[in-house]
Formats: sequence, C-alpha cells, structure tokens
Amino acid sequence: MRRILHDLEFLTSPQTAGRLSGTAGARRTAHYLKAELDSLGFDSALQPVDVPAARLISTPKLVVGPRAFSPRRDFAELTALSAGGQVKGQLLVVREDDLLPPEDFKGKVILIPERPQGFNLAETLNAAIELGAAALLVEHGEPRWFHKTVYSGSGKIPVLRVRASIAEELAQQNGVLVELDLPLERATRPCNNVIGVLRGDSDFTLALTAHYDHLGDDSDDVRFPGAFDNASGVAAVLSAARELVEEKLPFNLLVAFLTGEESGLWGAKQLIVHPPMPISAVINLDGIGSESKLNALRLGHRQRGDPLAELAENILLKRGIEPKWIGGSDDSSAFISKGIPTLGLGQQPTGQARSVMHTPLDTRESLHLETIHQGVEVLVEIVKSVSMADPKGLQRPLGSLKIHDKEKYHVHAK
Ligand SMILES: [Zn+2]
Repeated sequence: MRRILHDLEFLTSPQTAGRLSGTAGARRTAHYLKAELDSLGFDSALQPVDVPAARLISTPKLVVGPRAFSPRRDFAELTALSAGGQVKGQLLVVREDDLLPPEDFKGKVILIPERPQGFNLAETLNAAIELGAAALLVEHGEPRWFHKTVYSGSGKIPVLRVRASIAEELAQQNGVLVELDLPLERATRPCNNVIGVLRGDSDFTLALTAHYDHLGDDSDDVRFPGAFDNASGVAAVLSAARELVEEKLPFNLLVAFLTGEESGLWGAKQLIVHPPMPISAVINLDGIGSESKLNALRLGHRQRGDPLAELAENILLKRGIEPKWIGGSDDSSAFISKGIPTLGLGQQPTGQARSVMHTPLDTRESLHLETIHQGVEVLVEIVKSVSMADPKGLQRPLGSLKIHDKEKYHVHAK
C-alpha cells in the first residue's frame, strides 16, 4: 500500500503536469516507470509512438463587452470540432425558430443560449460555417468544471461550450463585441510506450497494460492530476508486477504502460503492430479506486465469449465482486478489435466519481487506496490462474493469432 501511494503521489504530482503525451511531464513519467520495471528485473525499453493530439498551448480568452470569462469554469474548448485562433466579432444570439437573414451571420460570433430538443452540434456548426460565422458559442449546462479532451478532430472556426447561466446573461447582449482567443494546436508528437518483459519458458505472452497519459495541466493553478484516469491503473499494474516477479510464471509477462490513449488509443495501436514478442492475451487496467469498495469491475466486453474475461468472471464472483460486461472505448477495445483475448478491468465511475472524470477534481485524495489494493489482489489472482489453466487454452475459441502483415493481425479459426 505504501508503494501504491508513493507511485500515485508521483504520477499525480506537479512534476508530471498532467502527463499529456509528448510533454516533459509525460517523459518524466515514462522514465520513472521504466526505472521501476528495471529495478524489478524486467527487460525494459521505451517504444517510440507518434501521437496526434489537440492541445492548448496557452490560456484561452473569452471577453464579451467589458467582461472576461474564466476558462474551464465558464467556458471550454471542444477539440473534436473546433479550430483554434483569434476572433473579434459582434455577438449574434440565435434561438430556436429565429428567422434571421443569412447575411446577419457573416463575421459574427454566434451564441446558442439554449439547445433545443434534438439539437445537433455538428449540423449547427456546418450551417454556421456556411453562413460565414466567425465562431460558435454553445450553452452546455452547469458543470463544476468543463471536461477536457485532447482528441484531435478538425475544425474550421472556434467552437466553445459556455456555462448555461453565462449563456443566458450573454443572450441579453446581442450585438456586443466578443473577443476570443483559442490557442489550440494540433500536432503529432513523439511519445513512448514503456515496455518491460519478464521471460518465462513458453511462447505464451500475457500483457498487462495501463495507459499512463492524461490530459495535461491547463496551468499551475488548473491542474489535471488524472488520478483515477489512469494513475490508478498504472499503480495497480506496477504493484501487481512487484508481486508477480516473485512467482516464476511459466509464460512471458509483458508489462506495457501505454501513451496516447486520451487522443485515440495510439500507444495500444503501436503495441499491437510492433509487439516485442507476439502477444497471446491482454489484461488492461483503466480506472480503479473511485469507490470505497470494490463491488463491481467491468470486463471490457459487452458480452461473454472471450476466454480470458470468462476466467476472470469466475474469480470476481468467487470474491463477491460483480462482473459487469461493459465494452469501453479505452485501450482494451483496441486489443479486442484485433481479436486478441482481452480483459479490460476497471471501475465504471458512478455518481460523483463520474462527474470528476477529465476535470481537475480527479485527484489522488479522491481515490480509495484500499480498493486499488483489492484490485491488485484480483489482478494477481487472475494472472496466477492463467498460469495454472494451461494458458494456451485461453486462445481456443479464437485459434492462434498470427501476424498477417505489418498492419493487421490475422486470426486463424481452428
Ligand atoms: Zn481519460
């Protein structure tokens, strides 16, 4: 537990600055993880991965009339659909059923103060672009913090989500001057997966994976520690690795801390295409410790059929933990889509824990260490039972996994 706490404190510290792929904080994290694997006797390496992502390179500004708003609290960028850039224009408030002449839109900063039923942002944005709007502001509820994303996407004009109460206020100020600056940069940056191998004497290789990247701090004051997402999974895999080195496993154990998850599972995709050895099965950890008890864990699949997940289901049931068959969009789905037997372990955050995801509230202090510790025990038991269960049997329903060409795995039915 002391080691788990120590790892979590490092991973969420200002030194790692939110671990955004391609930043100094992520590199520092990678070196820390590699050093840990080295000290445990793993044969370790940094695997290069090019990661495309959208990121803010300085603090965004939104000034309407005399008033400056606060980024992340009052408004936020929408990386998937937005362009970056500076815009100065008059505010044009557009409500449902408003009939405005097309020329009214030209060069304006459009505000949608209320999203009507069935509102479609992509369609609205396209219409705004066609009409020559300079930027789009859309009301987006009353979150404590706006969620941050780094997903790359593409966009032609700046698009901001705006707090509902502020949107309502601004809706009374049609025609006022709006100045906005969204320093959004899209770039592909060199990053690294951290890979460690502990050889056993068979050609079966079990990979334990967890993404170490997160979203990056906005500033020293607005930090994104990413404790649950996914310092928790990294600390759990490291802790399991510390126990498993004592076990003399009869197969190869590959530990991989993956990068680029937040902007599109890039690290997982790279590991799939360039594994240090053919990967037989994967256990991916993403998000654990959000609740005070480990009473449910998801299995990374929407339904039964994966032999590794089924083996894990029995272990969870035996421990009184409810297995939840929930497919996700985390790294496990990258492995699953290639037909690799995969177990995607993690807690589905609910209630309060859900609203902290991708916000500055995802802190080390909000994690439950005891739950992470239980997760490690489950993980270790699953790995040990793989070794007792004739690991090759895990692949039976899928047959053997062969590299077909550089990009694709080919699954042979037996
Ligand atoms: Zn995330």
